[in-house]
Amino acid sequence: MYGYKIINGKAVIDEQEAGIIISIFNGYISGLSMKAAAANAGVPMQHSAVKRILMRDIYIGTDYYPAIISRETFAKATGKRLHRANQHGCEKRYTAPPMYCAIMSTVSSMNMGDFPQMIDLVAEKNVDVFAFGRYCPTSGQKSEEYHIEPTAYRDFLDMCYKRFQYHKSNGCKTTFQYKDHLWTLYLYEQGLFKIPENHEPDKVYDGCHCGIGHMTILPTGDVFACRRMESKIGNVFETPMYELFLGADLEEYRQFDKFEKCSKCELRGYCRGCPAVTFGYTGNMYAPDPQCWKEVS
Ligand code: SF4
Ligand code: SF4
Repeated sequence: MYGYKIINGKAVIDEQEAGIIISIFNGYISGLSMKAAAANAGVPMQHSAVKRILMRDIYIGTDYYPAIISRETFAKATGKRLHRANQHGCEKRYTAPPMYCAIMSTVSSMNMGDFPQMIDLVAEKNVDVFAFGRYCPTSGQKSEEYHIEPTAYRDFLDMCYKRFQYHKSNGCKTTFQYKDHLWTLYLYEQGLFKIPENHEPDKVYDGCHCGIGHMTILPTGDVFACRRMESKIGNVFETPMYELFLGADLEEYRQFDKFEKCSKCELRGYCRGCPAVTFGYTGNMYAPDPQCWKEVS
């Protein structure tokens, strides 16, 4: 390894080569090109050879190799190298497909004003997928601070929808996902979602997946109905998944008639809002969804 000698099985610094390495790093940090930094150190080298030296992080020291340069020097040189690569368009080589990018955000009253700009940026950068969920408060104080009034949330979805359409009509390839189930209510009111004619009122077809389509398993084996609320239903190391899924604890999340407002709503089989957000606000997942603006009698 350039910069070291192996003596009796141990790596020791080769003082002459180490001096060249230090000089190359310092020259490059001061603004010289890679080749110029090597020439300045008295060792003409090809660009690729200098680059290998600048990328070799063992020069900051490992258990085996003693340090030749400081961590700070290495960081400065790396920052400079990446900056120059970007300037020369080399980053395209590092970010080319198959790297896909999905951006998932969380909305509350604190940041909803940032979304127009965020959606425009996502579209401009051709992000593959964009979605958001609603903030789930974890205390009474946070409920007040982060709350969005139902009609304000409807207007917010309206703004997002129109912006999505605008970008799509201009050739944007981003998939804007309708993650929050209150999108179903919005699309229903716009005539863009219709309840199928042959639907059976007592059946659940879509909406919140709690109790019907998912469970969350932590590394400890603890299983939750939903990771976004206090909803532990057991431990997979103690009880088989099949039994947990069909068990009484998860059954609580399938008691659709207990949902105070959703049980009377024609969108019951397709929406049910977000019981975790409702739980965060009220401590009762069966209470009306705090952002649902639908009037249900
Ligand atoms: S009442 Fe429930 S099911 Fe109906 S729109 Fe509101 S959240 Fe959705
Ligand atoms: S409670 Fe909310 S976050 Fe959890 S599965 Fe249902 S809709 Fe999703």
